[in-house]
Amino acid sequence: MSHLHNGQCGLCLHYGENHEGPHDTDLLQIRTTHEAPDTVLDDCGHPKHAALHLKVTPISGCDGFEAAPQA
Ligand code: SF4
Repeated sequence: MSHLHNGQCGLCLHYGENHEGPHDTDLLQIRTTHEAPDTVLDDCGHPKHAALHLKVTPISGCDGFEAAPQA
């Protein structure tokens, strides 16, 4: 597990954006605790990445970071 900081995918609005929903407890838990396993992969939904089906870990990051709303 890693502690996440602003700028990292796990706390980004675009992380798992395309399947995110009220029942996505994994994403909610990551955003609430700011802790995530290093090895999970999820889709980046950023408009510049989505067509490329970029897969990122919670500890990845890029300049397209936008903070997800806090749970
Ligand atoms: S790659 Fe960039 S835009 Fe995509 S989830 Fe990570 S920080 Fe957000």
